[in-house]
Amino acid sequence: MTTTERTPAELASALDELERRRGLGVDATLAEAVQAQEQAAALEEPVLERRAVLVQSDMLGRKGDLAASAQRVWSVHQWAMAHENRPLLARSHRLLTRTFHNLGDDSASLEHAVLAMEAADDDTAPVLRTSLLSNLADALGNNGSYQAAYERYAEAERLLVALDAPEDLINVLNNHAFTRFEAGDLATAQRLAGRMLEVSESRGLALNPGMLDTLAAVRLAAGDYAAAEQSALDAVEFIKSGRYHQVELLAQHLVTLARARRLRGDLESAERAVQEALSRCEDSDLRGFRVRALAEAAAVAASTGQWQRAYELHVAFHDEGEVLTSAQREAAARTRQAIFETDEARAAAERFREQALRDSLTGLRNRRYFDEELESMLQGAAPEQLVLALVDLDHFKHVNDTYSHEVGDSVLRATAELLEACLRERSPGDGCFAARIGGEEFGIVLPGVALDDATSFAELLRVRMRSHDWSPLLHDDVQTISVGLAVGAVGQGAASILREADANLYAAKASGRDQVAWTPADDAADRRLYR
Ligand code: GH3
Ligand code: MG
Ligand code: MG
Repeated sequence: MTTTERTPAELASALDELERRRGLGVDATLAEAVQAQEQAAALEEPVLERRAVLVQSDMLGRKGDLAASAQRVWSVHQWAMAHENRPLLARSHRLLTRTFHNLGDDSASLEHAVLAMEAADDDTAPVLRTSLLSNLADALGNNGSYQAAYERYAEAERLLVALDAPEDLINVLNNHAFTRFEAGDLATAQRLAGRMLEVSESRGLALNPGMLDTLAAVRLAAGDYAAAEQSALDAVEFIKSGRYHQVELLAQHLVTLARARRLRGDLESAERAVQEALSRCEDSDLRGFRVRALAEAAAVAASTGQWQRAYELHVAFHDEGEVLTSAQREAAARTRQAIFETDEARAAAERFREQALRDSLTGLRNRRYFDEELESMLQGAAPEQLVLALVDLDHFKHVNDTYSHEVGDSVLRATAELLEACLRERSPGDGCFAARIGGEEFGIVLPGVALDDATSFAELLRVRMRSHDWSPLLHDDVQTISVGLAVGAVGQGAASILREADANLYAAKASGRDQVAWTPADDAADRRLYR
């Protein structure tokens, strides 16, 4: 793929393709997904950007970096939920199915598989839909609900035959065969593995190492050791060729190979395979496979009569098995931590955003929020009008001068509480809010409220202020307010509404303070006072 510019449609179909690659060329896919993410960001295509991140999460998971994988899928998932984006939700739930399976939480895994199906809708591409279906079947199988799993695999197979999608079909046949094998239904597992082989041969599609492993396992169980050995050998060579990324599979295939050889009676070459498996495990952090390799090594040693060595290997197998479970627990904890940190970061970001829009003294909305909300309400469609009330404390300078700045602050806080209490009590309508927009000046926005109701609301405020018990703060003084109102219509600029409310506030001050002033609808020149 090139770095040339792509249109959103081209990028979307490139992502379709990346999403269907699975384990083939994981590093290249990862690099392309990073590039796709950058291009989507440049095109301002947030959904495509996140689809690219999901591909990265998938590839990181296949490489064994579960924490990084979990972090990415979780952050996209949160975004998809917040935006109720179903195509993205289908994909994030699908990946979370595997994340939770890797964490050993198969019931959470199943829940995500079900939700992935539910998020799919009529617009979901049929191949993606069948992949969600087979994903659900996998999760059902992992939960031991074999019958339910079989039904869904069969349905997915039927759809993929109809869609003529042989690559996806062999994948589903593989998973179905493996689930049958695990459930002990060897006959069906064999039949399905045979069909998988048939489709791959007739369509010229190579089986990937995972599929070859299913084949080897089924053949081993059926006692067909020579054929099992061949499949295991094919899998080993496939991985050594570098065409398939999951390096950790190599140790697994070497163990299968050793077992096939041991059961066939070729103990010398079995020994070679198992030694190679053990050394591969030492090269990297492959504890899980090392335990299996040790078990097989013990079995090979016993078959060749090396009892002492068999015993030692068995002890090592036992010890490492214990280490493994604690290492698995640690890995699971790390992945959960990664998910948690993403959640935390999001919550913290929301808290910061929330704080940035509040006034620290009173806890009311601040000037920034007031300006943004007022502007966006006036640009919106509904409601068609709003009332703005500007509230200013009367002779507030006197409070600061006579008592103290601290007492002044307390008066401001008490005023904010009274404003909030009146809003709660009257609940004039959805979206109403009060903000502190200046030192001792407050703005109240009342969307969808009629001027009459707004003036009586302002009058209630005025009366509550003057009748409040101020004596603890102000002894015999009483804090009053002046209020200026203005009506704004959608499409109008905020500045002209603010100007009119300010002019009315000035009129209220000029005619003695402690009053409410507004412009009557019938005669714009005349101001009315309420007292
Ligand atoms: P008027 O009735 O004309 O509004 O008179 P006023 O004294 O309220 O008006 P003026 O604008 O002259 O004074 C406002 C005062 O509010 C001046 C300033 O010290 C005080 N002030 C502004 N912000 C704060 C604050 O955060 N805390 C306190 N304590 N005082 C503040
Ligand atoms: Mg004042
Ligand atoms: Mg003022």
